[in-house]
Amino acid sequence: MANYRTRTINDYETILTCDDPESGLRAVVAIHDTTLGPALGGCRMWSYGDEREALDDALRLARGMTYKAAVADLPLGGGKSVIIGDSRRDKTPELFRAFGRMIEHLNGRYVTGEDVGTSVADMEIVRQETTHVAGLASGSGDPSPVTASGVFHGIRAAVRHRVGSDDLNGMCVAVQGTGHVGYHLCRMLHGAGAELVVTDVSEIALERAVVEFGAQAVSPDAIYDTAADIFAPCALGGSINKDTASRLRVAIVAGAANNQLAEPTDGVALHRRGILYAPDYVINAGGLINVSWDVLHKDEPYDADAALAEVSKIDGTLSALFERAADEGQPTHVIADDIARERLRVAEHA
Ligand code: NAD
Repeated sequence: MANYRTRTINDYETILTCDDPESGLRAVVAIHDTTLGPALGGCRMWSYGDEREALDDALRLARGMTYKAAVADLPLGGGKSVIIGDSRRDKTPELFRAFGRMIEHLNGRYVTGEDVGTSVADMEIVRQETTHVAGLASGSGDPSPVTASGVFHGIRAAVRHRVGSDDLNGMCVAVQGTGHVGYHLCRMLHGAGAELVVTDVSEIALERAVVEFGAQAVSPDAIYDTAADIFAPCALGGSINKDTASRLRVAIVAGAANNQLAEPTDGVALHRRGILYAPDYVINAGGLINVSWDVLHKDEPYDADAALAEVSKIDGTLSALFERAADEGQPTHVIADDIARERLRVAEHA
């Protein structure tokens, strides 16, 4: 028998934990806020040290999803789930079926999908137990090229804000991480005539960008000292930190990675240096906008062109955000949070 426990913590609406000895499932679903709509956010599978660590990650990620959906103007709330386990060793069909039953327990207040450590194939198993799962192969599928498209639009908005034109021809972009999103971003930037400097800890990923797009490869550490117009972090979180914020030799930071600022003060450091920062959860919302199709247009087949048209609105969202930040003399990451909170307040009082 699976043991479920439901509780609330601070401003989070629902925390559901599950311990199912039969399948081995130990998981947390955190629903942060459903003011704007059902909570949508993927399922992360990770070798957390203990349950506290898993819970903290679920809480942090769920709040991030609320803000991301709010600024993207989606009628969706924020939630996230985490499974405690090693995604290379501990996956079984029974585990994901038990996870599906856990999601079903929430009656549609939370919709799951893939994230770090889980795949579309895992979600197909989850689907056997619940309909509250998005991003299946029969729906919106792999979000990476769409996320890259949103980042590309965001880079153009940042360049336009800076120099008055969004022509990327001849611009130099330093791309950190040429994985799923980074690769497609490089392809789009190359197509627009940009020069690329790239880094990755994977030789294979790096080589592909060098061969296909004529990119110049540098070491993972040297990317921070590379003179370029734009730095595009597309690897892990925390790449803008105490050390790197003062090293960057760029005018713009705009990339796909989640949680780019190690601390909010690192966003202030960029602001003080006159570096325009495209807040991560605004510029990388393409994946969420894409997968939201499966929730908001449940009865229609996935329409890639319509989804991409929605994603292109990231340009306008960021342009307005940059203008407001300039008017108010505030760092852009502060304005992004302000916009999210304002949208939630308006919806609460509607
Ligand atoms: P990915 O794992 O396919 O690519 C990440 C790449 O970064 C890998 O090639 C990896 O080798 C490389 N890398 C890791 N550490 C590095 C380092 N220190 N220096 C240089 N390269 C390093 O992941 P992805 O799906 O492309 O996602 C990239 C980022 O964008 C992540 O932060 C992810 O959370 C975020 N994001 C992705 C999506 C999406 O649709 N996939 C949506 C929103 C946000």
